[in-house]
Amino acid sequence: MKPQQELSKLLSGVRTLLVDFDGPFCSVFAGLNADEVAERMRRQLADAEHDVRPDWKAENDPLALLRRIAHEAPGSVPDADRILADLETEAARLARPNPQMSAVLDAAVHSGRDVIVVSNNAGSAIRCYLENHRLTHRVNKVVGRRPGEPESMKPSPCLLLDAMEPGRDASGYIFIGDAVRDVEAGHAADVLTIGYANKERKERFLINAGAAVVVTSLLPLAEALVVSARTT
Ligand SMILES: [Mg+2]
Repeated sequence: MKPQQELSKLLSGVRTLLVDFDGPFCSVFAGLNADEVAERMRRQLADAEHDVRPDWKAENDPLALLRRIAHEAPGSVPDADRILADLETEAARLARPNPQMSAVLDAAVHSGRDVIVVSNNAGSAIRCYLENHRLTHRVNKVVGRRPGEPESMKPSPCLLLDAMEPGRDASGYIFIGDAVRDVEAGHAADVLTIGYANKERKERFLINAGAAVVVTSLLPLAEALVVSARTT
């Protein structure tokens, strides 16, 4: 089966697109770099008199740092999460948009499908980005990580399950994400995942993780959404 046909078949019963934020919508830390965010997070935690462990300095991914704090210093999580959410909001203002996403959002509207953002980023930062890019009305719902609960982040199925209507058949949903943890969260929530390999090296990892299909561009997905709407 051709990739395009494969995508159309996959999407035929889908009524709601669950879409990861960092990657499909934009590069969140393209303007304010992730390592700078992690550094400022450590500094602000120290200023708030939290015990910042020396080996946390090696962690350049702010979300991984938050996860680590949750394991090693759970008492610091509420402040760490709040500090990170503010920094993510600052980063979201400088994020680099993925121009292909608007084709997906158009196709979702034209084919009568809902779009829900499901992301490990803070909901406040995602909403700030959507407002700045006039996309708020094109997204039905935003599900960011649960504040103060880093364990809700993917690969946990928590956020996907928060996004889905209780009791509704999972086959009415599909998840689009660019990371292995997205595919893993999809498996755990019983939702198929379309892997978005926006960097060449990701393709193999997403396939190996068990993505239903892997695309290197969102444009074939947008086309397939329109085509599959005509056949269902
Ligand atoms: Mg992502």
